[in-house]
Amino acid sequence: MKILLIKVLIIFCFSVNAIAESISFTKEENDFLTSNPVIKVAMMPDFTPFTYYIENTPVGFEHDLLKIVSKRTGLEFEKTIANWTTIYSSFKNKEVDMITSISYKKYREPFTTFTSSYYDIPIMIFVRDTFGEYNGIKSLKGKKVGVLKDVFYVKELEKLGTMNLVYYDNYSDLTKDLVFGKIDALIQNLTNINYLIKENLYSNLKLASELILPNTKKEDLRFGVQPEKPLLSSILQKALNSISNKEKEALVDKWIGSIKEYKGGHIELNKNEIAYLDTKVIKYCINPDGLPFEGLNEEGKHSGMSSDYYNLFENILSAKFTLVKTDNWNESINYIKEHKCDMLALGMETPERKKYLNFTSNYLEVPLVVATKVDVPFINQILDLEGEKIGIIKGDAFVKILRQKYPSLNIIEVEDIKEGLDSVKDGKLFAYIDTLASIGYAFQQNYFGELKIAGKISENLKLSIAVVKEDKILLNILQKTVNNITNEMHREIFTKWIPIKYQKGIDYKLVWQISFAAIFLIILIVYWNRKIIQANNLLKEAKKDIEEKNKELQKLSITDKLTNLYNRRKLDELLQSEIHRCERFNHTFGLAILDIDHFKKVNDTFGHQVGDKVLIEIANILKTNIRKTDFVGRFGGEEFLIICPESDKDGVYKLIENIRKDIANYDFKDVGKISASFGIALLKEKDSIESLLKRADEALYLAKNSGRNRVVVSDN
Ligand code: GH3
Ligand code: MG
Ligand code: MG
Repeated sequence: MKILLIKVLIIFCFSVNAIAESISFTKEENDFLTSNPVIKVAMMPDFTPFTYYIENTPVGFEHDLLKIVSKRTGLEFEKTIANWTTIYSSFKNKEVDMITSISYKKYREPFTTFTSSYYDIPIMIFVRDTFGEYNGIKSLKGKKVGVLKDVFYVKELEKLGTMNLVYYDNYSDLTKDLVFGKIDALIQNLTNINYLIKENLYSNLKLASELILPNTKKEDLRFGVQPEKPLLSSILQKALNSISNKEKEALVDKWIGSIKEYKGGHIELNKNEIAYLDTKVIKYCINPDGLPFEGLNEEGKHSGMSSDYYNLFENILSAKFTLVKTDNWNESINYIKEHKCDMLALGMETPERKKYLNFTSNYLEVPLVVATKVDVPFINQILDLEGEKIGIIKGDAFVKILRQKYPSLNIIEVEDIKEGLDSVKDGKLFAYIDTLASIGYAFQQNYFGELKIAGKISENLKLSIAVVKEDKILLNILQKTVNNITNEMHREIFTKWIPIKYQKGIDYKLVWQISFAAIFLIILIVYWNRKIIQANNLLKEAKKDIEEKNKELQKLSITDKLTNLYNRRKLDELLQSEIHRCERFNHTFGLAILDIDHFKKVNDTFGHQVGDKVLIEIANILKTNIRKTDFVGRFGGEEFLIICPESDKDGVYKLIENIRKDIANYDFKDVGKISASFGIALLKEKDSIESLLKRADEALYLAKNSGRNRVVVSDN
């Protein structure tokens, strides 16, 4: 009983529907409809946008058209989807009741009843977006125009004789050559070229116009029906006739119109997703002061790049998003945590945020730069900022990332860009990191001549839509939407906002170009600076090396190798300068020559090496006994010279006598006791090195002759 009631209701609904669309079927047609509810239809899998696949679901203009026909007639369609050759032969073999996308050809009449055309594919003229204004086919005069060999309108174009036709074997070479400027225009049916444009993300082509020539017809798309089923074809024809212009426009808009304008086509949503968009109010939060990325304008409305993207999303989805206003970014973050909004318009994916948010793939990527005072050297990499205070906006996802990646950085969070840049200006911060867009924008308002962009850091800011974790449906919808944004759309939004067009009438495009050029220069200068610094460092090292070597050489040149005391050369120098000094200041100084007693014997008895050791031991005794102001050196073989500046006879004598005693008391290794004799002389007026040394030598001779191991002072 219940089932019957439902059936009655359904029939009632259908009849209401039929009445509404005012299709009046004949009795035979109605009988056909009741006895043949399921119709086998053959369709193509790759005839974009009429019948093709998105994610394993057949979609397109014709599928929607069949849905309408179903609704109007109650017919159910059983679809066979295969390539044209297959479905065309199965239609000819009468394995299916009907076929779609078939064009009228006289030779098909014996096995086909055609409905009227439900769409005529136009032949279009495509050009690059730099082509300029297109004013009809005369604009192609003398231009290189690509066409497919043997395509049906070629003869007519050749007859025109105004353009320089270039012939191609296939669509893809034809399209590519237009993209890369080898030809100026191409003529082809809309759908084929659109398909290639979408596939290859060509973003520099545009439609000039439809090709309209007296004998060139559009490609007509019709339903083809088995001639044995005249009732089916008449029913289909009636259904097609019942479609209003408005309905047809909607279909064209959805499947063809949008492609025509490169709006990236449409997106295919599943039942759940459609229901979601129909029923739910989607709330989103933004950063209210993140211009030019996003912000609130004077009227409190969403503005900036993300607002343009959201308009686009709304168009693509035919849905409306509601902005939930916040005072600042932190509040937006809190709002999404508390589910007061469903998504963030622009968010950066971070591990921390992934705990409560899902992210679409990024749809905006921008460079990050470092702002400093003008006099700061260029910053080549972020680690150049080590040990300095660096400002970043509070709560910015980047803070965490930089802290994690570079724990040695001293990052200080600031409320907003103004605080950040002001602090740099006042010297409270060394640098401030933000996007090139934000800093560039702020620089035009303030800070001119005080701050500069000192460098770019290697990380880019990648932004996507963040959706509350629980809402998978919304995430999927938005991901599909993001996927669907063409390069053309990105470019449009970017160029709209990057040459920031606020107030004042400054040419921001130029500013940006200059900024980019500046960054390039910075990188170049930093590079050369580095090279120069490296070279300088090398030079410094080399210089240091040479200086050390020189010092060593100098030391070697004045040092006696065996004893490490001054050598004869140095002693001569010292004597000379002492004599000069004393002459100038009318002072005197004393010196003593030391000669080891019976040293030949030491050599003879113990060998030369032991003799050398004795010389070293004597040198050590001398070094430890002389005063700071005295000099001592090896004068020759086993003779030493002790120079005592600023000393009188007694002073020198006492010093030397002590040395004599020390030597005499010293226990020489292997040798035992050794003594030495000394001759002392003091500088007199008109003394030369020679005369002075001669007197000392004479005194030494006396010491030797009077029994050795003694000190004799020259009397003269
Ligand atoms: P005197 O007491 O008269 O000075 O007797 P002496 O044997 O020391 O005689 P003299 O001063 O004439 O002898 C110098 C000797 O010192 C000659 C040489 O064998 C030795 N001699 C000189 N230079 C060196 C040296 O560098 N190493 C060693 N082992 N012996 C040296
Ligand atoms: Mg001697
Ligand atoms: Mg001697």
